[in-house]
Amino acid sequence: LMSELRIDPICGRHVYIAEERAGRPFDYAEGAAAEAHEIEERSAYRPDCPFCPGNEAATPAAVAVVTDDAGQWRVRVVPNKYPAVSMAAGGDAAIRAAADSHFRPAIGVQEVIIESPSHVARFDALSLDQTTTVLATYRDRLRYWAADGRLRYGLVFKNSGFAAGASLEHVHSQIVSFPDIPPVAQAEFDGAMRYSASYGRCLFCDLAQRERTEGARVVGSADGYLAFCAYAGRQPYETWILPDQHQARFDELPDGELTRMALVLQDVLGRLSAVNERQGHRPAYNLILHSDSFDGAQGSAYHWHWELVPRTTHLAGLEWGAGAFINPVSPERAARDLREAIVPPPPRQSAAEGTAAR
Ligand SMILES: [Zn+2]
Ligand SMILES: [Zn+2]
Ligand SMILES: [Zn+2]
Repeated sequence: LMSELRIDPICGRHVYIAEERAGRPFDYAEGAAAEAHEIEERSAYRPDCPFCPGNEAATPAAVAVVTDDAGQWRVRVVPNKYPAVSMAAGGDAAIRAAADSHFRPAIGVQEVIIESPSHVARFDALSLDQTTTVLATYRDRLRYWAADGRLRYGLVFKNSGFAAGASLEHVHSQIVSFPDIPPVAQAEFDGAMRYSASYGRCLFCDLAQRERTEGARVVGSADGYLAFCAYAGRQPYETWILPDQHQARFDELPDGELTRMALVLQDVLGRLSAVNERQGHRPAYNLILHSDSFDGAQGSAYHWHWELVPRTTHLAGLEWGAGAFINPVSPERAARDLREAIVPPPPRQSAAEGTAAR
């Protein structure tokens, strides 16, 4: 079986699909194997967890809170206690100047979204209602920083599991807002703008159409979204999720769309969990939201999407040195595994949520 070089259609990244490198998809993943022992479902409350109710003083004061009818918080947004970027690094002039120099103050905003009052580790263990509230919180924080006017780009990401960089297991995500466009986003914008200039259409809309027609990489297609394994996925089971309707910015999503989005995310994460659990592992992954810049500069050329990147292989010399990745599971095989996975329906309310003990 020959390896195959694939070029990512958006940003031109090189990926070698090299199936003979792995006997079975997750068996070589020491990180994932270790994790299976490390994280077990614990009680819904841990006294030493800074994200659990009752320990609010252990985090900076909340900048946004969603509460239930009884006044108990359901989602809290707090500034990151150890941020890489901050608005204290300079005034408006410094923020404008930041885009023009190699030596810059580290300006930006880094917020943590605590996604449940219960001490659960898994995003896909949250109820549909809770997941919808979390997505609304992402959207509203992006809207907030877009309206602020001083920053240009907002990135939402989740590090789930130790191998994906999570330091705390209590379910959470982060939003980092930057004064300029970060390199990964810029590469996608450049690819999308070039395509739009050549063909007069959205690269992502056309990509989704091709994936639907070809079918081999499709994981699911329902509720107004398409989920498919990336043609040049960097890691085994890398999956992208796009809205069918062309839309540049996630923060344009109306309330009515959020529940459908939550359903699709839960389904795809549940499938990833099912494929992993068959092999005794809890998946570690990064879930990344890519959206247009706050000023909408890409116009109709860009199309927001999720990138779900399971973290099972270590990045080594080829990745660091050449920026090329080796993926030992073909996206076609990954998509088949994910399609065939049996996913239990999401809880209407997770057991943990109902007993948010103090
Ligand atoms: Zn906790
Ligand atoms: Zn589009
Ligand atoms: Zn992307």
